[in-house]
Amino acid sequence: MAEEHSPIGGLHVFSTGTGSIHTEHRYGTRLPQMWWVLFSRNWVEVPINVFVLEHPEGLILFDAGLDTAVLTNPTYVDSRIGRFFMRRLFRLTMRAEETLTNKLAGLGFDVADVRKVVVSHLHFDHVGGIAEVPQADLLVSRNEWAQLSGPHPERDFIFGEHVQRPGARWQVVDFEHTDDPLLAPFGGCHDVMNDGSLILLPTPGHTPGSISMLARIKGRAPVLLIGDLAYEAELLMKDQLPGTGNKAQLLDSYEKVRELKRHLPELVILPSHDIAAQEYLSSNPAQQGAPADHSTAARFSVG
Ligand SMILES: [Zn+2]
Repeated sequence: MAEEHSPIGGLHVFSTGTGSIHTEHRYGTRLPQMWWVLFSRNWVEVPINVFVLEHPEGLILFDAGLDTAVLTNPTYVDSRIGRFFMRRLFRLTMRAEETLTNKLAGLGFDVADVRKVVVSHLHFDHVGGIAEVPQADLLVSRNEWAQLSGPHPERDFIFGEHVQRPGARWQVVDFEHTDDPLLAPFGGCHDVMNDGSLILLPTPGHTPGSISMLARIKGRAPVLLIGDLAYEAELLMKDQLPGTGNKAQLLDSYEKVRELKRHLPELVILPSHDIAAQEYLSSNPAQQGAPADHSTAARFSVG
């Protein structure tokens, strides 16, 4: 059933460039990870999605895509071994004009109107555009932020110098206790706009601090943006694990998301590297409902 009273007026998606990853990476394999990383010749092309939500207080982004510097700056990854594994794992293409600023302009939005960026996790292909939104709060989970002080975050494609940029307004999110039976199984949640429209949920597995965002959008079924928890929603539904990540954590998060979907059968699950997100949003334009009601907060509740 479409939401009628959410302050969120629209959801859009675009891709900042494209990438290819190994099929073993996306769909999993019984082969040892190092084998397919080094020897696989099977590639599948994927988008690098940024989601845009229209809130009365400004634009809220989920993920910030790729930085053109990945392709133009030969030392974007500063270690030689890092550059070697980058080439083995990702084939990236991005035209100079495919920036966050230009992609937003293509949808009729001004980058200066971005109020917050929710970062699903700190991998380079999810934080690339943060330099273009110096005015925005950048939300990241505490567990993910802790990855930066680990011994070698760059070995997991978290590049501190591109995350902790001068002036970047990072806000580390702690999840609060909730009694809402819909959200409680996740062990906590964070209400981004304090109006119940955008709820962050811990969904570890791809990285220890990966998060998802449950969004209530006017004229749409509820949406769960899951970052890289799964590369396709169907893979999550059938417990088909990808080639990387913490298997036990992934399976635990998959079950929590399926439990959420059992309570909200109309829930639409949108991953950050799935072309299905574009297809879904272009083939399901928002339904016209009642005028936006900003006076009463839209809350999630069962039933
Ligand atoms: Zn990614």
